[in-house]
Amino acid sequence: MAQDLYQAPDYFHLDDLLTDEHKLIRDAAREWIKREVTPIIEDVAQKAEFPKQIIDGLAKIGAFGSFIPEEYGGSGLDHISYGIIMQEIERGDSGVRSTASVQSSLVMYPIWKFGSEEQKQKYLPKLATGELMGCFGLTEPNHGSNPSGMETKYKDMGDHYLLNGAKLWISNSPFADIAVVWAKNEKGRIHGLIVERGMKGFSTPETHHKWSLRTSATGELIFDNVKISKENLLPGKSGLGAPLMCLDSARYGIAWGAIGAAMDCYDTALRYAKERIQFGKPIAAFQLQQKKLTEMITEITKAQFLTWRLGVLRDEGRATSAQISMAKRNNVEMALNIARESRQILGAMGITGDYSIMRHMMNLESVITYEGTHDIHLLITGMDITGIPAFV
Ligand SMILES: Cc1cc2nc3c(=O)[nH]c(=O)nc-3n(C[C@H](O)[C@H](O)[C@H](O)COP(=O)(O)OP(=O)(O)OC[C@H]3O[C@@H](n4cnc5c(N)ncnc54)[C@H](O)[C@@H]3O)c2cc1C
Repeated sequence: MAQDLYQAPDYFHLDDLLTDEHKLIRDAAREWIKREVTPIIEDVAQKAEFPKQIIDGLAKIGAFGSFIPEEYGGSGLDHISYGIIMQEIERGDSGVRSTASVQSSLVMYPIWKFGSEEQKQKYLPKLATGELMGCFGLTEPNHGSNPSGMETKYKDMGDHYLLNGAKLWISNSPFADIAVVWAKNEKGRIHGLIVERGMKGFSTPETHHKWSLRTSATGELIFDNVKISKENLLPGKSGLGAPLMCLDSARYGIAWGAIGAAMDCYDTALRYAKERIQFGKPIAAFQLQQKKLTEMITEITKAQFLTWRLGVLRDEGRATSAQISMAKRNNVEMALNIARESRQILGAMGITGDYSIMRHMMNLESVITYEGTHDIHLLITGMDITGIPAFV
């Protein structure tokens, strides 16, 4: 990849609304991405490899459970800090951000919120340092947008549970040490279980040939009569509301993250447009290119403020699931549109791995689908404003 000359756009001085601590966290993450991620990311993306060597660095910038209290190994930071970290990581790559989101919001969050004290002590400190990596199993082959229909189930065998079923499209599954798995009991009630690698009957085959999120390992979780200790059930909450709370946290992070990908595409396209000469002028001098760039920075600015406000509401405990859906939906579509327009500004160069844009564009095709599709988030907002669910 060409030298990383990234300069983050901040057209309306959003920085003035951040605390000094936010800016320190942001600058540390930004600098680390530039130093450790952008030099290797194109190569690992082309090879479709998850770069395990960055796990330690991710932990050090607070990417694993920044909002988890310090007594459990987290950083005890606010939600704006979590968002800023996700934004900076996704500026580098959505696949790397996916790994961090899953670890923080989908593995550490449920253990922190619904786990027993023993589970918190046992898993959270090691997840915070990356000594343990986790994944989150909700989606199944026959149940994506409608997880309430899940078929994975466990049976009470007296002194243990027996787990059977399969999960598909699971980020981090091929290398995760533990999986937070959502399954139904004999009464059809959904509970979370912690499944550990090495348990007999548990396997995690990798999903190959993805054109998107190539730096994030994706796979299945297969449970064939897996014997689970009763201590591994998350006791604090049951029902679909439990995984949906985790998804709120992850979707909130994605709303921030997508802005990072958009900022990187815009910054690259702006620099290229000022340097690329056609018809004796930089292409930035043509009105058509200025329209594209102007609309990009306008959309980025709107998303930055929407998301900052969402962070304030989340820190006050007032952000609703529907508000998070709106921000996730808006920002991912905005980023995807900006990636497509930026790609055009670079002409043929835009399709190469010399620039980050095509990788962002392909990555965002997953981001617009996972953690609730673009359609489903629209229906969530529709239900919120009309009071009428239109899912079925
Ligand atoms: C790279 C990647 C990583 C992922 N990581 C994870 C993970 O770590 N853990 C996990 O549990 N899952 C994960 N997922 C799964 C992801 O959350 C699902 O793909 C997503 O929820 C959509 O489910 P589906 O693919 O089965 O699509 P479907 O639910 O089959 O939907 C197909 C299409 O139908 C539309 N549709 C569905 N229902 C309705 C409706 N009621 N009204 C209108 N339109 C509708 C959808 O919007 C979509 O366009 C990942 C997916 C990808 C691609």
